Amino acid sequence: MACTIYNFSAGPAVLPRAVLEQARAELLSLEGSGMSVMEISHRSERFHRILDGARQGIRDLLAVPDGYEILFMQGGASLQFSMIPMNFLRSGRSADYLITGSWGEKALKEARRRGKARIAYTSAADGYRKVPKAGELWFADDVDYVHYTSNETIEGVEFDYDLEAGLIPVICDASSNILSKPIDIEKYALIYAGAQKNIGPSGLSLIIIREDMLARAPDDQFAMLDYRNFARAGSMPNTPNTWAIYIAGLVCEWVKKQGGVAELARRNREKADLLYKAIDSSDGFYTGHAERDSRSLMNVTFRLPSVELDEKFCSEAATEGLDGLRGHRVFGGIRASIYNAFPREGVERLCEFMSEFAACNG
Ligand code: PMP
Repeated sequence: MACTIYNFSAGPAVLPRAVLEQARAELLSLEGSGMSVMEISHRSERFHRILDGARQGIRDLLAVPDGYEILFMQGGASLQFSMIPMNFLRSGRSADYLITGSWGEKALKEARRRGKARIAYTSAADGYRKVPKAGELWFADDVDYVHYTSNETIEGVEFDYDLEAGLIPVICDASSNILSKPIDIEKYALIYAGAQKNIGPSGLSLIIIREDMLARAPDDQFAMLDYRNFARAGSMPNTPNTWAIYIAGLVCEWVKKQGGVAELARRNREKADLLYKAIDSSDGFYTGHAERDSRSLMNVTFRLPSVELDEKFCSEAATEGLDGLRGHRVFGGIRASIYNAFPREGVERLCEFMSEFAACNG
């Protein structure tokens, strides 16, 4: 077994080593308190500082302007699929959904439990290989919001622009590319992400919401499903996931030390370019799933000439310390997830392995 493991898992995913080391150093005694962050009261001053730090970290890194609340919640990104229609899809009205992959499908399904939702765009017919071009879409005037997934983690397709829909509120699932590049928050009414790719551990979700959206929720909303309660209570209407918030704060500090999201975007582009080049220069041994201008910089998806070879590739790669490359259990193929904390050396190692494997099996 190789001793360096490169973890290509789609999520939970690799965390920055420096963050894990700091968490280990502070595990038994946070700031000399003799207690771990998981044992102190969420109402303590010490935890308040941690929560404020994580919130401010996100605000600084994504340049979140005044007029937006930053909320931490539980239930993962999947709960947001339900909360969004519960809070914003009014009776008799409709919402527009862009479906560019499996997560968008799930979001749509939840919206349709609540009310009407139109598919404003779908690339299902071609197996989700592309996203629409900027300006290509038309949205109905009377919809309550437009929803899209900025990076589809399973298929590996990504928008390289912030969607615009005029005066219609734009809601975005950015679970698998948040913090990977600068975005223009002002284009969004709500942006959400499960933490387990670029923010921290699973069991935490980040919601950035424009304040005017808070007023839209129905008055009889259940307390724990109402964004207003999270905004009013500073993300603590009940006991939050203190450990995950602590790690998220450390990750934000780490991103700042790396030079911020612009610098990470540059590195992410370089890492992805290396892998796509390895695919494109393989004389067809490796076939990328996404169309070129829709390729994800976070999840690089490709296939080998047969399912048997996909399997052989994954098991041999694992013995070389290249872990987590097996594609989604339904979608199959290979998926290399190369989020912010994934090191360039691991990508280089995978490219070498791909070339050796193609030479032996092509
Ligand atoms: N949206 C996207 C784009 C995802 O990648 C995922 C999970 N991988 C989800 C939603 C669901 O997230 P969770 O498991 O936190 O509910």
